[in-house]
Amino acid sequence: MTRSDVLRLAREGMGALPLYSPDLPACAVDLSDNTNLWGAPPAALRAMREAPVAALSRYPTLYSEPLRSALLDYVGLATAPDVGVVTGCGSDDVLDSTMRAFGAVGDSIAFSAPTFSMIPVLARLNGLTPLAIPFTKGFNVDAERLVDTKAKVTYICAPNNPTATPVSRAAVEYVVANASGIVLIDEAYAEFAPEVFTDLVAQDERVVVARTFSKAFGLAGLRVGYGVGANGVVRLIERARGPYKVNTLAERTVLAALDPSDDGLRWVCEHAALAVSSRERLIGELSQMGFVALPSAANFIMVPTPRAAELFRALSSRGVLVRAFTAMPQDLPVLAESNGAALRISVGPWEMMTTLLDTLRAVSS
Ligand code: PMP
Repeated sequence: MTRSDVLRLAREGMGALPLYSPDLPACAVDLSDNTNLWGAPPAALRAMREAPVAALSRYPTLYSEPLRSALLDYVGLATAPDVGVVTGCGSDDVLDSTMRAFGAVGDSIAFSAPTFSMIPVLARLNGLTPLAIPFTKGFNVDAERLVDTKAKVTYICAPNNPTATPVSRAAVEYVVANASGIVLIDEAYAEFAPEVFTDLVAQDERVVVARTFSKAFGLAGLRVGYGVGANGVVRLIERARGPYKVNTLAERTVLAALDPSDDGLRWVCEHAALAVSSRERLIGELSQMGFVALPSAANFIMVPTPRAAELFRALSSRGVLVRAFTAMPQDLPVLAESNGAALRISVGPWEMMTTLLDTLRAVSS
């Protein structure tokens, strides 16, 4: 059998699915992936260093049972009746498993576009049709149009990646009240946002909120995410997910990060607050240079500019890595004016922001 014969055996459409590979050069100052640029909570790193590694010859817990009550405490749902937790190998895994648990082949998933780039990919992988709905003028989700799709799953990214923009409570509540199926709210950046929607989990059993340890918790390399939802719902997602997805070291480390100590959870909250103040200062400095960022509720900002691709190259050749988006939908005037192009910049310690600003000044004049 030749190589091309083998490839023809693949499921239809597999070859066309993109790999998640923002093909990025290595740079000294990496502002490309919205992780915690201060690092990880010291308590988590200590737990990792002191882990009893002999335990690695055995399997981890099946479904992260020891993490569940700490996670429910953290999201403020410890006393909510009939609410549970599903964990995953990153929140990607939770999003993927939720689609698989609730969407049959041929069903659809609705979301506002542009959003997290893995959503249409995971949808296709699970046989779901992605239905991209434009944002409203103020970058809010178009709740009525989302509901009108009657999709089996409606995905809301709050705050939204890559735009960083918040989603209004009124819009989210409208979708939850009127959607035909599951409402999957992705709160990967919750710790930086003025408002979160985990309370809706206790009010409507069709709501699942996905969170991650990859962003504010600074543990992207560990690959731990979780979802909160009605017990029956999260147990179904677990079935679609499979066993042993969170490894022994990750479970131990994440528990330490959730411990309400100065070098555990308090460290995380303090550094999320630092990111928010760094963000506001960065937006101010950029506006003095003529770059107008979209309103941000996350630890990154989006700056629409038709020069995104050129600025990306110039910055990375000088050791500063950001993300350039060049083909975003142009329904909104601000993205039409930039030809659908924008830079996405992660926010971190002010010294890094100074390097970014100095380099941007040097290359954009
Ligand atoms: N959701 C959003 C909105 C994201 O931006 C990301 C990471 N870029 C994820 C989910 C996935 O994060 P992880 O799998 O690392 O938890």
